[in-house]
Amino acid sequence: MAELLVVGTLHTLDPSRPRAKAALVKGDSFAAVGSREECERLAGQDVRLVDLGSGCAVPGLADAHGHVALYGRTRAEVSCAGASSEQECAERAAKAAERAPRGTWIRGGGWSHDLWREQRLPTAASLSAAVPHHPVALARSDVHALWVNDLALHAAGIDARTPDPDGGHIGRDPKGAPTGILVDNAMRLVFHAMPRPQESDIEANLLTGLRAAAEAGLTSVHDAGLGPEVLEVYRKLAAERRLPVRVYGMIDGQQALPTLDGQIDLWKLTPRIGPLTVQSVKLFADGALGSRGAKMFEPYTDDWTTTGLWVTSPDELRARIGRVSAAGYQPCVHAIGDRACAETLQAFSAVPSAHRLRPRVEHLQLLRPRDAHLLREAGAVASMQPTHATSDAPWAEARLGMATERRQGAYAWRQALDAGAILAFGSDFPVESLDPRKGLASAVLRAPEGSAVPWMPEQSLTLLEALRAFTWGAAYAEHAEWRRGVIRVGFDADLTLFGRDLFEVPPAALPEVPLLGTVVAGQLFQKGP
Ligand SMILES: [Zn+2]
Repeated sequence: MAELLVVGTLHTLDPSRPRAKAALVKGDSFAAVGSREECERLAGQDVRLVDLGSGCAVPGLADAHGHVALYGRTRAEVSCAGASSEQECAERAAKAAERAPRGTWIRGGGWSHDLWREQRLPTAASLSAAVPHHPVALARSDVHALWVNDLALHAAGIDARTPDPDGGHIGRDPKGAPTGILVDNAMRLVFHAMPRPQESDIEANLLTGLRAAAEAGLTSVHDAGLGPEVLEVYRKLAAERRLPVRVYGMIDGQQALPTLDGQIDLWKLTPRIGPLTVQSVKLFADGALGSRGAKMFEPYTDDWTTTGLWVTSPDELRARIGRVSAAGYQPCVHAIGDRACAETLQAFSAVPSAHRLRPRVEHLQLLRPRDAHLLREAGAVASMQPTHATSDAPWAEARLGMATERRQGAYAWRQALDAGAILAFGSDFPVESLDPRKGLASAVLRAPEGSAVPWMPEQSLTLLEALRAFTWGAAYAEHAEWRRGVIRVGFDADLTLFGRDLFEVPPAALPEVPLLGTVVAGQLFQKGP
């Protein structure tokens, strides 16, 4: 049996013994945690020594909300990240089109018009001028809006007569003609026109995403919203022992009901295959804040014509939450706007069995202080992403208003914690970087990148609280806190190893702390030079 002896400073996050000097790993679990002598006494002949030096070990960091296949796919696509104008994005798409046969789809994403000088949504006209012979679809950085050219509109059959689908919005000019912007469920019209991904593509994308997660120091990811094809590839990779990190998969809950029921029935038979667990379902209440799809009680401060949109109507959402819960599966509901969050929590409370299933609100970006009590009543997990706050801070107040109640409850981790919710942190990668060091820094500092000024510092967490949300909280969110999330004898041997002690560096320096490697189920992965 493989053995590891990890020595140095270990922050166990176990309240009964917060610090240890060593941990002995036998097989896939901790055999001893304590002093070096205690651990050495129990070690066998060929134990491998891992000396942390001036660094530290923490329980394996988890990302409680990410999109693995999307991460892999976007590596191979046009990136509009950092582009400073509509024109620059169109040029990047044109460059990709030069290498692609005429008529094939050019895909990409990462643009954010809030960061451009005009702050105006882009149009099909500019994209069609730059790329006239390929259908193009470029997702906004939040993946809740799609910018397409004329060929893509044509391929999807969208014209002035096409009605807005339920839970979606087609951007239109004053004459009603589509402008090339499709929000939330309207994006599906285009996705259906694209060729379906091959199994080999899905596998490659998943492995790219999972390896990136492992490289970033994560030992577990919760993958949000998986269709049958992706789940089958996961099943295969798990059976072949090819998953480099643990995966908690959420079944796509927006599928047609017979498909959803069939998927739950199928996975209920074997919800766990090695490091893969599938016992939850991802649903959507609303869209995202940036594309004004987040459902609010009051109109957007910077657009009084809209309160956002329901991706799933409240009635349908309640019905699906009830259905998933009745099957014993955990509902995980994307909710961003204050109305969507309140409605979701009330829907959880209405299902008697939901409490026990630990229903999750994914994102929980806006929750009015008067609604915070709903978290405890629903027994809900607050699955939040600290980097969303620091990325959105430069423009969020334009959407929310300064003196509004919804702003007081914006990205409010402290509020959620004080209300009695369990916090589970993640990144929503590839929407944000999957580097957990950035998430920790955002949670503690709430300072946007490149700025030292915190946004709503009253919502900041301590480093210990933030680490807990990335470890124990994420484990709780997948019903695994009895075996993961702290460093304790008998628990799964998952660790993240750093080259400096996280508690000894100023919070602003957290993203620069070197990562030494990880231990996943007793397997050591050391970071190369
Ligand atoms: Zn997401």
